[in-house]
Amino acid sequence: MEQAQIQLSNRYIDKAPEERTLADFVIQRRPEADLFAWTQDFYESVEYLNRKGHNLYRRVLKSANGRHVEIEDPLTGETRKMLMIGSNSYLGLNVHPRVVNAAKKALEHYGVGAGSPPHFSGYYDVHRELEQNLAWLKGAEEAMIYPSGYSTNVGIISCLTGPKDIVIIDRLAHASIIDGCLLSGAKIMTFKHNDMNSLERVLKQTEHKKDGDRLVIVEGVYSMDGDIAPLDVIYDLVKKYGAKLMVDEAHATGVIGKTGKGSPEHFDLEGKIDLVMGTFSKSLGGLGGFVAAKKEVITYLRYYSRAYFFAASPTPMQVAAQNEAVNVLREEPEWNKKLWDNIHYFHGRLKEEGFDIENAQTAITPIVIGDTVKTREVTKFMHENNVFVNPVPYPAVPRKKDRLRLSLSALHEKEDLDLILDLLKEADKKWQIRK
Ligand code: PMP
Repeated sequence: MEQAQIQLSNRYIDKAPEERTLADFVIQRRPEADLFAWTQDFYESVEYLNRKGHNLYRRVLKSANGRHVEIEDPLTGETRKMLMIGSNSYLGLNVHPRVVNAAKKALEHYGVGAGSPPHFSGYYDVHRELEQNLAWLKGAEEAMIYPSGYSTNVGIISCLTGPKDIVIIDRLAHASIIDGCLLSGAKIMTFKHNDMNSLERVLKQTEHKKDGDRLVIVEGVYSMDGDIAPLDVIYDLVKKYGAKLMVDEAHATGVIGKTGKGSPEHFDLEGKIDLVMGTFSKSLGGLGGFVAAKKEVITYLRYYSRAYFFAASPTPMQVAAQNEAVNVLREEPEWNKKLWDNIHYFHGRLKEEGFDIENAQTAITPIVIGDTVKTREVTKFMHENNVFVNPVPYPAVPRKKDRLRLSLSALHEKEDLDLILDLLKEADKKWQIRK
């Protein structure tokens, strides 16, 4: 690939293109009133990275996202087959025949769209069935589904908390949690990632606030580090200080817990957590989100959560597929077991070889490189060797924590993991990426 030959106008950002990050172009820093003031600078930065082969986002897939994928190579224009280790479908249920067939059957029966939001004509027998299945999955009284995981977080938090309340969130909280908090107008307080002393300090400090309530929001498994929140300790603290608790199960569902049901099962807290939120877009292989809670809370959300009330229902075929995915989780424990065999094997080998995987405990496996340019180079190297990995540079993670984010799946075989490890070792010779 030839070097980038692009003239940068540097109208507002006087920085080498390799040093520019997404943090440079956030709206708060826009230099002029004009909405599009610096889209030119940004466009040129993206083009520069494209030409260097350093922008491997939005690669075009031309096949199902399984163990292997076919992609249109942005560097050569050719179609290539690659080993996929960058999908959040941790159990491979997006391509599971039972799940695919459930979608096909529902498509034949119901057609394509739901036709309406749930309160009007967009609520079908398959929606009801899925709600009941999800309540079972999370050990809750009731559940409801949203069009996406993102809108679930925004919808729940902005509905239940308002300007008098305080939301207490982990510093690594997902964007959808933060956006829900911002929309609610509640006061946002943070605690250090998974640090229980820090959480307790915030709870103590806010203990005497009487005119509003406090909602602690954590993730069962964190999306960038793959570590597990100590939900048992968090639950005890929240009870001790009289607050409420919400857990985001995006990366925990299908992964942790004796039978893969997620954090409530893992910590023996089924039925005890105030709000259990999840997505269908990871282990369950599809699209959409849900929340499980007491029936009174769910009924209130059904009427007042704007992201639910004012949005079209997820399509019947999607919902039928998700319902079957939950059934597969219950009836075919081998997928969860295979995922854990892969996690134990791969994490063990990576640690033996001296790679920095932070405190990864689940399917999400960061390989911390600590330098944005090296991270891009290694991503390109993996791409050229037919392995699809995702780079996560600053500001998605803290400075000097730039990384590859690998996602293990039940579809991987040991030989795939060995191949990836060999490539990482080769990359290390060139870019020194071990600890
Ligand atoms: N919460 C967390 C922790 C997530 O990682 C994500 C997705 N990246 C979401 C919520 C949003 O879910 P979805 O992508 O299904 O909208």
